Amino acid sequence: APMVRRVQLGPDSYDAIVEWGGIGRLATYLKRLQLPPRIFMVTDSNIHDLYVPGLITQLTDAGFEPHVYTIPAGEASKSQQQLNALYDWLIEQYAERREAIIALGGGVVGDLVGYVAATYLRGVPLVQIPTSLLAQVDSAIGGKCGINHPKGKNLIGAFYHPRLMLADPAVLLTLPARQRIEGWAEIVKYGIILDAELFALLEKHVDVLHDFNHSPTALLCQIIARCIDLKVTVIEEDEREQGRRAILNYGHTIGHALENVSGYGEWLHGEAVSLGMVAAAQLAQEAGMFSAAEAIRQNTLLAKLGLPTAYRGDVQARDILAKIQLDKKVVGKRVRWVMPRHIGEVVVTPMPDEIVQRVVTTFFA
Ligand code: NAD
Ligand code: ZN
Repeated sequence: APMVRRVQLGPDSYDAIVEWGGIGRLATYLKRLQLPPRIFMVTDSNIHDLYVPGLITQLTDAGFEPHVYTIPAGEASKSQQQLNALYDWLIEQYAERREAIIALGGGVVGDLVGYVAATYLRGVPLVQIPTSLLAQVDSAIGGKCGINHPKGKNLIGAFYHPRLMLADPAVLLTLPARQRIEGWAEIVKYGIILDAELFALLEKHVDVLHDFNHSPTALLCQIIARCIDLKVTVIEEDEREQGRRAILNYGHTIGHALENVSGYGEWLHGEAVSLGMVAAAQLAQEAGMFSAAEAIRQNTLLAKLGLPTAYRGDVQARDILAKIQLDKKVVGKRVRWVMPRHIGEVVVTPMPDEIVQRVVTTFFA
């Protein structure tokens, strides 16, 4: 049975659905939205052959008229050029205000197409169908969308929520292993920042979860739905990242710095966040806020899921430190660190420079 979380944002609301095999019921879900028959579906070149032919048949049989646009897979597609190509495509077909756009793909498709939907005709209905683990538990929830600029990642964007979010964990079976594993970093993050029970569940089932293709489907659905529920609860409280939403950045201060300094591509986002969480836990531990035993539990879980927990590479600690000072989460020049107190509980606080320097220097030695 599908797990449904109603997302309430001011006067607007929508369903976030987790369902094994759920994309096989997409037409049914779309009917409930009472959309015009034309559907503009955007996907990427890896996903197209795997899922689009079946979806076209399904939607056509149900009376929809699907039109498909396929972008090249990869982060480079989150560009002004690709954005323009999508506007051109919609304009050429006279796509109208009430007609829906479907984003079928990972975070790249979700961010780009979300931004298209937010801006074309000042906003058209959007359906998010996240196909990567990272997108299902993180990027397809929260409304952030946008593109990169040659001078930096995610510099242009908006907040725009879908009319439906449909996560089908069965599609993760075709996701390459490395991209699947990185998604676990965000899931462990939710355990540390908000949910000791989720963390314990992951610990208990870690071996079968690492062997993803043999994991019980109900367990995967339960975990993904739990993460969505946690993120939704946070953004319902704080849509625009003023206060509580900041806790979602656990592991991201150092993680983002590492991605940036190493030039994006060497480390996947989830891998960088895994390393960032290990370093952040060390920081909290050295400040006397977090126990060694709990830090070990975190790091052990990450390692068993296949994520990196010790840095090997050649970035310079001083470059990481310089980037941290420029991180966009810096308020009045002080970095606000998300620090664990216990598994399931974090605080957002500045940290003494000397401890940060010592930990970062040791971690990136
Ligand atoms: P991605 O979209 O590039 O997907 C990763 C790779 O997996 C791609 O090659 C893709 O083609 C492939 N793929 C995806 N689903 C597949 C499937 N089911 N079967 C086979 N292959 C599949 O990357 P991602 O990790 O999903 O997302 C990263 C992007 O998300 C970044 O651009 C990042 O900035 C963004 N992001 C946004 C938010 C947000 O809140 N909006 C949060 C986190 C990350
Ligand atoms: Zn992240």
